[in-house]
Amino acid sequence: MAQKQFKTESKRILDLMINSIYTHKEIFLRELISNASDAIDKYYFTNQGHVNSDELEIRIDLDEENRKITISDTGIGMDETDLDENLGTIAQSGSLAFKEEMAKEDKKEEDIDIIGQFGVGFYSAFMVSKEITVISKKEGCPAYKWTSDGVSGYEISEGERENHGTTIILTLKEDSDEEDYSQYLKTYKIKDLVKKYSDYIRYPIHMNVETT
Ligand code: ADP
Ligand code: MG
Repeated sequence: MAQKQFKTESKRILDLMINSIYTHKEIFLRELISNASDAIDKYYFTNQGHVNSDELEIRIDLDEENRKITISDTGIGMDETDLDENLGTIAQSGSLAFKEEMAKEDKKEEDIDIIGQFGVGFYSAFMVSKEITVISKKEGCPAYKWTSDGVSGYEISEGERENHGTTIILTLKEDSDEEDYSQYLKTYKIKDLVKKYSDYIRYPIHMNVETT
C-alpha cells in the first residue's frame, strides 16, 4: 500500500504535538472520546433515530503488556475517502490555536493551560502514541485501516470490522525520565480521566476490567 503524506499544515501541527512539552497530554483521551460521541450522534441522526440505542456505546480497552489503548465506537464510521480527508488534514481551529500558542516564545503557565480548553483534535493522540491504527467501517461499505506513526505519513489499506463504527488503537510511546506514558494503561487512571473530562458524554463508556 502506498504511503501518503500529511498536508503541510498538518505536518507542522503533528510535529508540535509529537515533540510537545505540553504538560496536559492526558487531554488526548477527551479528544478521542468526543470524536467517538460525535460519530455516534452522526449515526443516530443519519438514521433519523431509527437505531437500537443499546448498541450506541464507546469502549475503552487497555492492554498493558502490549502498551495499547483501544477506543471504539459504534458511530457512523469512515470509508476510505473519509479516512484520507479527515485524518490526513487539519482544518481544526483548536489545533491551529495550539500551534500558535506553542510557537510563542514567552509562553506563560496560564497560556499553556488555555490550550487544553480548545478541542485540539485527533492529532493530540500523537502526544502519547508512537503509532496509531484506525479501523473504521461505514454501513454498506468495506472496512478500512489507517496507520501512521505521525511522522512519515500514513497508509490506508483494507481492514476488518463487522459493524459500523471506528476502532482507534494507540501504541504508547516508551516511558522516559520526563514522561510516564504507562500511567495511561492503568484502569484507575483512565477512569479518572473519563470522569474529569468526559462526564458530560451521553453515551455509555464501557471498559474492560481484567480480573487476574
Ligand atoms: P473535529 O472533531 O473538531 O472535527 P478532529 O481532529 O478531532 O477534529 O477529528 C477530525 C475528523 O475526523 C472529524 O471531524 C471526523 O470527521 C473524523 N473522525 C475522527 N474520529 C472519528 C470517529 N471516531 N468516528 C468517525 N469519524 C471520526
Ligand atoms: Mg474532535
